[in-house]
Amino acid sequence: MAYKITEDCATCGVCEPECPNQAISEGTETYVIDPDRCNECVGFHDEAQCAAVCPVDACVPDPEHRESRDQLLAKKSRLHGD
Ligand code: SF4
Repeated sequence: MAYKITEDCATCGVCEPECPNQAISEGTETYVIDPDRCNECVGFHDEAQCAAVCPVDACVPDPEHRESRDQLLAKKSRLHGD
């Protein structure tokens, strides 16, 4: 399941450099996560790095983008070629 950034985002930007997939960018009003690139950090870290560093807990799982662990690993392979 991809993560998303809620309206609580304070636009501090600390999450952006932590993402191993370059899935986070600055949007119009908040930072945003590209669900085609977010793989919950599976294969990289034990927890979602954006959620781990967010000071206002604005990075949360997005129930509209549910994926299995195999799908998340496949996304990692697609993005990184391994
Ligand atoms: Fe990037 Fe991981 Fe956050 Fe997804 S959960 S946006 S892969 S840091």
